[in-house]
Amino acid sequence: MNSPLLGHFASQLDDLKQQGNLRQFTSNLQQDRYITIHHKKMLNLASNDYLGLASNIQLREQFFDETPNAQRWMSSSSSRLLTGNFPEYEQLEDSLGQAFHGRAALLFNSGYHMNIGILPALADSKTLILADKLIHASMIDGIRLSTAKYVRYRHNDLAHLAQLLHKYHQDESFERIIVVTESIFSMDGDETDLAELVRIKKQFSKVMLYVDEAHAIGVRGEQGLGCAEQYGVMDDIDLLVGTFGKAMASIGGYLICHPVIRDYLINSMRPLIFSTAQPPICMAWTDFIFKKVLNLKAERQHLQQISQSLQQAVQSKGFDCPSTSHIVPVMIGESGKTVEKAQALQDAGFYIMPVRPPTVPQHSSRLRISLTAQITQTDLNQLTPLL
Ligand SMILES: *Cc1c(COP(=O)(O)O)cnc(C)c1O
Repeated sequence: MNSPLLGHFASQLDDLKQQGNLRQFTSNLQQDRYITIHHKKMLNLASNDYLGLASNIQLREQFFDETPNAQRWMSSSSSRLLTGNFPEYEQLEDSLGQAFHGRAALLFNSGYHMNIGILPALADSKTLILADKLIHASMIDGIRLSTAKYVRYRHNDLAHLAQLLHKYHQDESFERIIVVTESIFSMDGDETDLAELVRIKKQFSKVMLYVDEAHAIGVRGEQGLGCAEQYGVMDDIDLLVGTFGKAMASIGGYLICHPVIRDYLINSMRPLIFSTAQPPICMAWTDFIFKKVLNLKAERQHLQQISQSLQQAVQSKGFDCPSTSHIVPVMIGESGKTVEKAQALQDAGFYIMPVRPPTVPQHSSRLRISLTAQITQTDLNQLTPLL
């Protein structure tokens, strides 16, 4: 070992530890609504399995019963542009296209691939990107990889966005303006007013909307197609993206768009062109789950009910609660204190994780409670007095 070289990294890690910001993997075992860590079994309140489908053994059994070995391809062995374009991809894109009013659908290996790939492919030096201050790191990375100029607007402040649009829309150096946001935000659990966003967009001819529904797909709308479905704007969002790794109990990302954009991305998007496509069995599983999700209205209603109940409880304990969704932060502020509080809740049997900088802005460390359809009101009644 070359210790002077390692010493640099070791001292950086020490600094992180001092600040209460050191991250580590923890081994865990999961079963239904529970997670076991270091032999302690806790109610899982840190899961993205919002509909409880990933932990559902019956669903898995049904899927494997319906899928013969000959179709259980565990690798595609290639990018889709070479030999990796198995029928399972086209089947899933068909299912998505049909559900999303006949628009085109394109699949990606993960939400991260999707967000670091689409913007650099579409946005050139004649493009301006206007992005919400709190968008997910994957979109920030996508913006950084693009050659576009980029300006951020205050979080969820559509009046500020409209101001910037008035200012830049007349600037002839920009041929296109792409507005980038999430529908439900991953850290605050608040949401963009998509109807208002669409109304603003319609006043400006150069504007395209890019909306990430990672936390809304499966959870919002009659059929679980996201906030765009819920607010009736599915056809008005030029680039409607989401992921399968959360409520959809699978892996991957999707884009709903115009067929021209789909063709353009197939010809220009590097993470799509230069990466082996997902195993076909994952596509088949996502398609299986997607068709189930369309009918899970009762689960969505239950999730909404317990979410509202927890938001109210957090507020009544005197915390700011920006959330209008199943992601409910409890704002603590300082990292060390947040970690302590999370530990106390874990000791009491509730697995809740602290979220610290750089994932969230400085001094806004929080407990992030994420609810799933498997959580009951009784669970919340036991949790609330401990917050
Ligand atoms: C989780 C998440 C992603 C990343 O998706 P993966 O499929 O996990 O790579 C992208 N955008 C948002 C808003 C997310 O929350």
